[in-house]
Amino acid sequence: MMTETSEQSSVEHYDLVIVGGGMVGISLALLLAQQQPHWKLLLLEAQAYDSSGKQSPSFDSRSTALSWSSRKIFQAAGLWSALESYTSAINNIHVSDRGHIGLTRISAEEAGVEALGYVIENRWIGAGLLDKLAATSVEMMAPERVAKITPLKSGVRVDLENCGETIQTSLLVIADGANSQTAQKLGIHSDQQPYGQQGIIANIGLQEAHNGVAYERFTDQGPMAMLPLPDFDGSPRCALVWTQPPERAAELMAASDKDFLTALQESFGYRMGMVQKVGERVAYPLALTTASEQVRRNIVVLGNAAHSLHPVAGQGFNLSLRDVATLADVLGKAKSAGLEFSSLETLEGYQQQQLADQQNTLMFSDNLPKLFAQSSSVVALGRNSGLVVMDLLPSLRSRFAKFGMGMANKEAGHGS
Ligand SMILES: Cc1cc2nc3c(=O)[nH]c(=O)nc-3n(C[C@H](O)[C@H](O)[C@H](O)COP(=O)(O)OP(=O)(O)OC[C@H]3O[C@@H](n4cnc5c(N)ncnc54)[C@H](O)[C@@H]3O)c2cc1C
Repeated sequence: MMTETSEQSSVEHYDLVIVGGGMVGISLALLLAQQQPHWKLLLLEAQAYDSSGKQSPSFDSRSTALSWSSRKIFQAAGLWSALESYTSAINNIHVSDRGHIGLTRISAEEAGVEALGYVIENRWIGAGLLDKLAATSVEMMAPERVAKITPLKSGVRVDLENCGETIQTSLLVIADGANSQTAQKLGIHSDQQPYGQQGIIANIGLQEAHNGVAYERFTDQGPMAMLPLPDFDGSPRCALVWTQPPERAAELMAASDKDFLTALQESFGYRMGMVQKVGERVAYPLALTTASEQVRRNIVVLGNAAHSLHPVAGQGFNLSLRDVATLADVLGKAKSAGLEFSSLETLEGYQQQQLADQQNTLMFSDNLPKLFAQSSSVVALGRNSGLVVMDLLPSLRSRFAKFGMGMANKEAGHGS
């Protein structure tokens, strides 16, 4: 009789199965399909993809500031040329503190790079990734979910919810977003530290051209970012991320477009000129979420399922894409060396390689909003001094810029 831990030869066997077809899951599927064309790969996504790609939470009305490291990874995957015309390059970043004197400017020229980042709507990243993936041999099942996961002596058995089939895989990658239900099935829990804030996102129509300037503004209620987007119908636009306490966020979500724009102008000032239009608004509760484990034998947790960050520093996807690129590289090298690519040793090697990058990025994204959330005059003085000092010291500013570009921990790697 078959025991729980033995393999079944009659079921379909995959080298790797990815649960979650968001931006991170698809990116891994694409990189692996390109680098390991003989591997049998399967992607499971809970929601059906429609032609606009809008159904996936990853491809909603949000925009992403892609770092230099992400550009390099997408370039290597042959995707950048399809995305570039939908991006707006960040030539300058202005960091300011409302009601205080601190202000710093970081320029691409000073940092010695073509751009400090590239802002693009998520739907274009989703559409580009899906187009590229369609040209590979990756199998996709959507809508589909995992009903049960059973560790085997070698690999894992996965019972699928919708089609009722059972499959086996050497490596199961869990990329189904923050508070992953799939990870929970394995007893991998999410540690959640709420920021007590909501992030309101919307596209904003501007009267004047933004000239590729991104603004990070810290207010007593929370940080806000206005990121340059490509023009729409000849009109300049930017992507707003506005963090607010829940009660104020609810008021802003319920406000008329006119009242919302008035409140935005009052809070942000006139650095970008007059704000004229606001698109669909969506509010996200903000929390730092980390998985209790990222690797086990035959299992990897990736993307928001592994770590979900405060959006103010625009690091979440960029970090995950570096995780993806490193994981693909580590798996490929293990395979070439004749090692078991899904062994705990190989997967711990991946985690070790990404550890410093993950820790530094988490700390940076976590500390920034906390520092600016404190409004006592001593802290305000400190943070203003920090901004002033940063403005006076080109080397410090260039380190901040490099962090934003995803180069702080990867000088020799994806960010180089
Ligand atoms: C307001 C805001 C602004 C941001 N701005 C930036 C930025 O500028 N730069 C940046 O780098 N990052 C940014 N981020 C972070 C970035 O959006 C995330 O890091 C990224 O979306 C994570 O992608 P993911 O694929 O891991 O997760 P998700 O986007 O959550 O995708 C998970 C996928 O899994 C699917 N799924 C869920 N459950 C199951 C299941 N049981 N079975 C199968 N599939 C399932 C979902 O349908 C979804 O498609 C921002 C985040 C927010 C909230």
